[in-house]
Amino acid sequence: MLAPMESNVALSHKLILPTDRAERLHYIKHHFPLAKGMTLSEAWVGGRLSAIKQLNQIDGLAYNRNRNFLNGAVTHLSPYLRHGCITLKEALDSVQARFGNNAEKLIFELAWRDYWRQVWYMQGNKILSDMEASKVLLGVKPVPDFVKKSQTGLPCMDAFIHDLIDDGYVHNHARMWFAAYVLHWLKVDWRAAADWYESYLLDGDQSSNHLSWQWIATTNSSKPYYFNKENLGRFTGEKYCTGCTAKCPFDKSYEDLQLQLFDTHHQAVANVYPISAPPRQALSGLSTIAIFVHDEMLSPAHPLMQQPFPKIFVFDNILHGHWSINRLQFMADCLSEISEIEVWMGETRQVLQERGVGQVITQNTPNPALKALLQPYSPKWQAEEAFVNLKFDEKSLKRFSKYWEKVGPVLLGDKEYRKP
Ligand SMILES: Cc1cc2nc3c(=O)[nH]c(=O)nc-3n(C[C@H](O)[C@H](O)[C@H](O)COP(=O)(O)OP(=O)(O)OC[C@H]3O[C@@H](n4cnc5c(N)ncnc54)[C@H](O)[C@@H]3O)c2cc1C
Repeated sequence: MLAPMESNVALSHKLILPTDRAERLHYIKHHFPLAKGMTLSEAWVGGRLSAIKQLNQIDGLAYNRNRNFLNGAVTHLSPYLRHGCITLKEALDSVQARFGNNAEKLIFELAWRDYWRQVWYMQGNKILSDMEASKVLLGVKPVPDFVKKSQTGLPCMDAFIHDLIDDGYVHNHARMWFAAYVLHWLKVDWRAAADWYESYLLDGDQSSNHLSWQWIATTNSSKPYYFNKENLGRFTGEKYCTGCTAKCPFDKSYEDLQLQLFDTHHQAVANVYPISAPPRQALSGLSTIAIFVHDEMLSPAHPLMQQPFPKIFVFDNILHGHWSINRLQFMADCLSEISEIEVWMGETRQVLQERGVGQVITQNTPNPALKALLQPYSPKWQAEEAFVNLKFDEKSLKRFSKYWEKVGPVLLGDKEYRKP
């Protein structure tokens, strides 16, 4: 929760973000006393300036070679892409201009982000329930306290939880190991795990996050993802295994683990999970037109920021109430780069009503919660910059391999394109 919700009337108010960064971080912490987690670390300065700096530091060739290693040359672009500080197309253009197809793996990974997003556009809230029946028996346990407190007794998993809670950033391979451990060893319900995990990520994104958890669970893939000690040891440089005294649950062959972990003789049904949505409301009927700045378009270079209408952003419990303090601080960094923007905390509808808004213009989003929230304000959804100019049907979004069959040749050229 962002703030104590004592009375709706007193809830919404304007924030004046300090220009000094240290003061700004403190200001956000003060205004969101109930937000969990740690203050934003020095390594993560939000905003477009930092995003471009980060983009210019990418080594696309090293990425090709070693991205799966924990100390590999990964880009750390995800929080910037998630909040729209730079667009996915900008990242692609920059990578292609500097490395061409030598950065094939990075182009491929950027495409994963677009793929999950296209699935979200097509399936909406269905991504929060089983996309398909699971192929193995899944657990239904809540996330255990010993996981939330990073007290699993396994140095590797505890370190990955620390990365999540202290920093908000976890390497992709560590996300995969951790999710497999939680789902297949601990038998935690995938949706509970995905919700909890997303709430701590600086790059938390329902499509990339929840669909990845489903991919590991098998509700969005044909076989489960799992790993063994040898694999984890290799890609971590034995960092956690050396000196580890725990009884390692991963120290087995893949064949033995498969027998231990997976029951494939189960009744396959796709579960539907409950989803809450803001109630429908009559159209506002007021006259002001405003640019509604949402959490996927936090950039001063966004075309809508140049429009002659008031620009309004709201930290809203419905959208951001479960996010960690460092993420709110990251967003405040981003917002501080946008001139003449009104930043509010409270209820979006109450703010828009108070500001006399009858219509909002904003960037399109696959996020159904945001769409429902803005429904009374006759939203004009402006298309976001496309990663690739192609149209997708349900069949081409069924699996990444299908999507890549269409997208790969366009991005890499017919000659260099290889099937994943
Ligand atoms: C369980 C789990 C949860 C995840 N949750 C999120 C999430 O909430 N938000 C999020 O942005 N990503 C998520 N990912 C995908 C991926 O782990 C992160 O995008 C990546 O680790 C971010 O670090 P980076 O920017 O250094 O990545 P790099 O390896 O440098 O990749 C560059 C960019 O490509 C995109 N990308 C790379 N790998 C993937 C992938 N597998 N799926 C989607 N996009 C990818 C990201 O935008 C990333 O910034 C999740 C993966 C798993 C397994």
